[in-house]
Amino acid sequence: MIKIGLTGGIASGKSTVAGMLRECGIIVIDADEIAHRIMEPGQTAWQEIVAWLGREILTTDGIIDRRRLGDIIFTDPTARAKLEAITHPRIWAVMNDAATHYAAQGVKQVILDIPLLIECNWQEKVDEIWLVYASQQLQLERLQARNHLSKAQALARIHAQKSIEEKQKVADVIIDNSGDLAKTRAQIAILSARLLL
Ligand code: ADP
Repeated sequence: MIKIGLTGGIASGKSTVAGMLRECGIIVIDADEIAHRIMEPGQTAWQEIVAWLGREILTTDGIIDRRRLGDIIFTDPTARAKLEAITHPRIWAVMNDAATHYAAQGVKQVILDIPLLIECNWQEKVDEIWLVYASQQLQLERLQARNHLSKAQALARIHAQKSIEEKQKVADVIIDNSGDLAKTRAQIAILSARLLL
């Protein structure tokens, strides 16, 4: 089985492209969705986070308060590293199990949709890296529009990641999402046809 890591920069269009790949019949395994699942009440990552930060990190429903957790890790690199040490190995294990499950069914290729693949240094875990590219200016415009952010707020989020220009250097395939959706869809049609050959 070929494992393709799909990544991008915030608002470069990775989710849009993942949707197009699914429409072409390619299996996409979503790291964000798994990250949410492993933090659900009672799951082992949830238990470790509560043991570490106390029940103050929970909402009244027992759910991890993501905003509060975000505030803690945003200002404290040690806390961020600790959270990643709790969550990342589990996220990878679940993704890998899913890929193995599909491989057993005869699936020959899966897309692993991983927003921070390069920041996490997961390059070696995948066979190919596909990067969804849009210029920083376009990222900024789309992020502001999508999340209703000021320019300063949107820039802070963009700068919290490795730049998309840096990411391009390690990509095997670059999907240019600077144009309209039809242009991107045309690239995805070619890439998926080649994959499914
Ligand atoms: P990501 O998953 O990389 O954060 P999204 O796929 O959510 O990015 O795209 C960011 C925003 O830009 C969304 O609102 C999406 O609808 C819009 N968008 C994505 N691709 C294009 C495009 N080619 N042209 C115009 N808008 C786009």
